[in-house]
Amino acid sequence: VIVFNNLGEKRAANKSAEVMLGYEENEIINLSINKIIEHDIEHKNDNNIENVLPIDLSLLNNSTNLLARNKNGEFFPVEISVGKTKINNETYYISTLKDISARKKDEAKLQLLATTDSLTNALNRRAILDLGENAFSLARRHDRPLSIMMLDADYFKKINDNFGHDSGDKVLIALAKTIEQVLRTSDFYGRFGGEAFLIVLPETNIFEAEVVANRLLMKIRELEIPTLNDELIKVTASIGISEIEDTSANLMKIIHDADGALFEAKETGRDKTVCKALRKNPNQIKLVPTSLQSPALSRTKKAL
Ligand code: GH3
Ligand code: MG
Repeated sequence: VIVFNNLGEKRAANKSAEVMLGYEENEIINLSINKIIEHDIEHKNDNNIENVLPIDLSLLNNSTNLLARNKNGEFFPVEISVGKTKINNETYYISTLKDISARKKDEAKLQLLATTDSLTNALNRRAILDLGENAFSLARRHDRPLSIMMLDADYFKKINDNFGHDSGDKVLIALAKTIEQVLRTSDFYGRFGGEAFLIVLPETNIFEAEVVANRLLMKIRELEIPTLNDELIKVTASIGISEIEDTSANLMKIIHDADGALFEAKETGRDKTVCKALRKNPNQIKLVPTSLQSPALSRTKKAL
């Protein structure tokens, strides 16, 4: 507890306030509010407590979270509540500061637990869907491109069967790390389920996404993941890509499209990228991977 006068000068403080702020007894005596509370530039040299604190002092039990500064100049989060009183016509502010660093750390930990997949450290399914939905709304509102990739490890069951579940887990960790390295900072990804990752690429059309996807597959092909017995596991993945379209109702719709493209990639040999055929512009060429073209079609092409 610290008591200030209306010039923001400290008039009294209890022992716990001194301990919290790292001051010796009496050292704290002439400290102004500016030394203790971090606040906006506008009031840098303002000692009037009513200007310094973003808090309505007329409201009872009103509190706010701010950064306090200890003697060493280090900042830490505090919850501050202030009561106002008049003694002999002078106004005093009785401020109660509560160090909430531990609470903030716990909150951050909980937030992390709630949003990340503990094995791979990627966002979990719910978090990637939430972020993806936001990115979708933004793209929709501003008529900007957005692409989605669904990546799934190939023959992952065999990896588990041949090398054991723990080694399978190591492969998943390596996949997440590779995705992390290849993506740009504006992209994000999450573990969608078992051995599938959902990747969201804002401001990216399907052609640009395809370039990223192929680079990703190349990096995955280069991986050699050591098992506990020092064997090296090689892995490949398949990717389905789709893009926001004028008719896409929501994120789930484009995820569904990416899933369809992924299915095609699996059906037609794996270790490849398939883009969902575009419907947006009827003049746009349908993106069909060469490997998907029927021999008859290839022959026709040659004949032409
Ligand atoms: P495909 O190429 O068609 O994708 O075949 P696949 O074997 O990768 O796919 P399938 O869906 O048949 O098998 C996926 C396997 O992934 C089965 C499941 O046990 C395994 N799996 C799912 N989650 C985990 C995990 O967290 N760790 C490990 N080690 N394996 C997992
Ligand atoms: Mg798979």
